[in-house]
Amino acid sequence: MLKGKTALITGSNSGIGLGVAQEMARAGADVIINSFSDSAADHAIAADIAAEFGVSARYIAADMSDEAACRALIKKAGQVDILVNNAGIQYVAPVEDFPTDKWNAILAINLSSVFHTTAVALPLMRTRGWGRVINIASAHGLTASPYKSAYVAAKHGVVGLTKTVALETAGQGITCNAICPGYVLTPLVEAQIPDQMKTHNMDRDTVVREVMLARQPSGQFATSAQIGGTAVFLSTGAADQITGTTISVDGGWTAL
Ligand code: NAD
Repeated sequence: MLKGKTALITGSNSGIGLGVAQEMARAGADVIINSFSDSAADHAIAADIAAEFGVSARYIAADMSDEAACRALIKKAGQVDILVNNAGIQYVAPVEDFPTDKWNAILAINLSSVFHTTAVALPLMRTRGWGRVINIASAHGLTASPYKSAYVAAKHGVVGLTKTVALETAGQGITCNAICPGYVLTPLVEAQIPDQMKTHNMDRDTVVREVMLARQPSGQFATSAQIGGTAVFLSTGAADQITGTTISVDGGWTAL
C-alpha cells in the first residue's frame, strides 16, 4: 500500500512511535526510526523491522530537544514522504511548582521539534508533489487536566501548528493532520502510575480503572498498533482530502 514511500517517525524506539513504525512497515513503507540514544539495541529495532516486514529500515539518532539536531535528522534521512512527529515527554506538577527546565524541555520536544522537522521536510515533499505530516498530539491537545500545564500547552500548540501547515500546503499533494490518542499503555503512561498510586492511596488496578480510564468511556486503553493503523490510513489515497484536522483515538474521552 505504501511501497516506495519513506516514513520517518521521531521518538520511535518505544511505545506509540514504535507501533507506528511497525504499522507503516507492515503497509510496505521504508522506515526511519529515531530517538536521542544511539545504542546497539536502537539499531536492532530497525533491523528487526526490516527482517519482519521486508522493507528498508534505518535508525538515526537525534535529540528532538535540539533545533540543529531536528533539522539535521531530516537532512540525513534524505527522502521523507511521511513525517510522523511523535517524540514526547511528560511531567506532572501544579503550575506554581512546575520547574522551568521541565517546562522548557516539554515545549522543545513536544512542540518546537514539530516545527523544526516540518520546516525542513516540506520542501522535500514539494519536490515530489506528495507528502504526509502526521503529528501525534493527544486528547490533551483538545482538553486539559490539572498538573499537566506544559504538556497541555504543547499539545494544544501542536494542534494549532497542524492547522497552519495544512493551510500552507493545501492543494500541493501534502496533508497535515494530528492524531489525538487517549491513554495508551506505553512506558510514558506506566511511569505515571506509581505517583498516582501514592497521590490517591490506591493500588495499581484501581488507579488504572478509576483515575486513568475514568476519562475514557470505553474503559480500555488504546493501543500503539491502533495509532499506527490510523497513521497508515492518513497516508492512503482515501485521506487525500483530510487535512488540518484532528482524529481522536480515545475511547470516547472527548465526547464526554
Ligand atoms: P514513550 O515514552 O514510550 O515514547 C516516547 C518516545 O519519544 C521514545 O521513543 C523516546 O525515546 C522518545 N524521546 C523522548 N525524548 C526524546 C528526545 N529528546 N529526542 C528524541 N526522542 C525522544 O511514550 P509514548 O506514550 O509512546 O508517547 C509517544 C507520543 O504519544 C508522545 O508525543 C506522547 O505525548 C503521545 N501520547 C501518548 C499517550 C499515551 O497515553 N501513551 C496519549 C496521548 C499522546
